[in-house]
Amino acid sequence: MSGSAEPRYDAIVVGSGFGGCLAALGLIEAGMSVLMLERGGRVERSAANWGDEGAFVLTPHYTHESDYQLRSRRGWKPQGITACVGGPSIFYGGASFRFREADFSPPRELIGDSGAEWPISYSELEPFYSQVEELLHIAGEAGVDPTEPFRSRPFPAKPMPLAGPSPRIEEAGRALGLRPFRIPMAIDGAICRSCTTCDAFACAVSAKNDLATRLIPALIGMGMELRPGMVVSRLGEHGGRIGTVEAVDTATGEHTIFRSDRVVLAAGAIATPHLLLASRLERQNPGAEVVGRYLMRHCNAMMYGFFPRPTNPRDEHHKQLAFHDFYFGDEGRPGGLEKLGNIQQVMAPPTSLIRAMLPAVVGRPAAVLLRNLTGLLAVAEDQPRHGNGVTLGPGSPDRFGLPPARIEHQYTRRDLAARRALLTRAREILRRAGALFTVTYNVTTFSHAVGTVRMGEDPRRSALDPDCRFRGISNLWVTDGSVFPTSGGVNPSLTIAANALRVGRLIGAEG
Ligand SMILES: Cc1cc2nc3c(=O)[nH]c(=O)nc-3n(C[C@H](O)[C@H](O)[C@H](O)COP(=O)(O)OP(=O)(O)OC[C@H]3O[C@@H](n4cnc5c(N)ncnc54)[C@H](O)[C@@H]3O)c2cc1C
Repeated sequence: MSGSAEPRYDAIVVGSGFGGCLAALGLIEAGMSVLMLERGGRVERSAANWGDEGAFVLTPHYTHESDYQLRSRRGWKPQGITACVGGPSIFYGGASFRFREADFSPPRELIGDSGAEWPISYSELEPFYSQVEELLHIAGEAGVDPTEPFRSRPFPAKPMPLAGPSPRIEEAGRALGLRPFRIPMAIDGAICRSCTTCDAFACAVSAKNDLATRLIPALIGMGMELRPGMVVSRLGEHGGRIGTVEAVDTATGEHTIFRSDRVVLAAGAIATPHLLLASRLERQNPGAEVVGRYLMRHCNAMMYGFFPRPTNPRDEHHKQLAFHDFYFGDEGRPGGLEKLGNIQQVMAPPTSLIRAMLPAVVGRPAAVLLRNLTGLLAVAEDQPRHGNGVTLGPGSPDRFGLPPARIEHQYTRRDLAARRALLTRAREILRRAGALFTVTYNVTTFSHAVGTVRMGEDPRRSALDPDCRFRGISNLWVTDGSVFPTSGGVNPSLTIAANALRVGRLIGAEG
């Protein structure tokens, strides 16, 4: 084990995703020396990114699953977590929504007795949303989204023209009396070649404004040291402070002990509680019982309409339109749910991916039928439920010294009802656009995982204070999706990023 030769840093950031990068920016701006430790490696960019092997589901080296097990009906099964420089932003769809003002004061009907409460308001986060939109060069259109929150600055870029099936979806929505609007996207229209390999693929021409494209080179230019391929396995606490950060080099197996004055934990909503529990830090926290609990992931489903003719003959990118007419419930339906969520366009997977994933006998015809599909994704806000979360499992530690972790998650009846309500409306839109029938695919991944180390005012019901400092440990903060008390009804990355920038600046100002 090495250690003494390592310099001491002002701050160590664990994880290079949204939570890590945006917090790091605040620290570096304050003049701090920052080391970022990232478990994954760099994702190279070449035409291969768009090939069959480019999809993150087919590239096991961007996923580690040794430590995680998910409870299913048939027992425990391995659960992959994306690990690479920039985190899943490399493979994300780029949809960059702000939460609505009312997302920060969720109704009782949604939170139940979970004790979830946001200790910050939309207006406190608004300046950071604006800055992150600038940094990621978000293209959007203000003034159309019927639930749009206040914004102090215009979108930095204009969206690309509607393409493929989008005009047809827009027309159908309007015919139903709805108000379709443009999804704010982290895609640079000047570079984008409008292909359909966006969601789930790395962009070969760096048109997607992921973190490795847009922010990490700038952070390194400002002096940050990034060490990819380093798995943090333990945070060592002494006297109410983190004194050491232990990490293992994935290539050599060498253990290193790093030292710093501050630690920002941003390993994602599954790995962050895992690391806290593995380091037994919850014992310091008056809110110990929430560490690892209240895991949310949205109750998502993709609905595809089958059309008589190919929907996107020129193979153009078309994750472009969203509907928020039912974000705050659907008056036309009984049920009394005050919040539902978002409906947004989703592209049919590229035919190459379907051929690669399915046996040839099914894959070939499926790939042909795919041309006649276009889809909508329902993103339903889910409830914070104590029984959902990450705990340490039995068994021996893995080769990095991390104990096994187990994930348990069950949707509530309300979660499923919210998703059903959104899917009913999605079906109406697709049918009005001319779909002969629809098929639904329930999303089972943890791609929108949040909530496992939530912030709050009440020290017994939240593990982080309103500044996202881990209670009981004065120099430890959490800045990834773990911090969310509730999941909101839109994709989470922009809110994770805005909050991480807020916290990074707070830490920087404290000095
Ligand atoms: C295919 C896909 C599409 C998506 N599309 C969208 C979208 O369109 N819009 C949107 O808003 N969101 C989208 N998301 C979700 C979004 O990517 C996540 O919400 C977001 O990246 C989470 O950010 P985070 O900071 O919480 O953690 P992450 O971004 O997950 O970052 C955590 C980082 O920590 C690293 N790490 C983990 N453990 C360790 C350890 N022990 N030591 C060192 N490093 C460690 C990981 O490798 C990772 O890089 C998508 C996700 C996926 C997978």
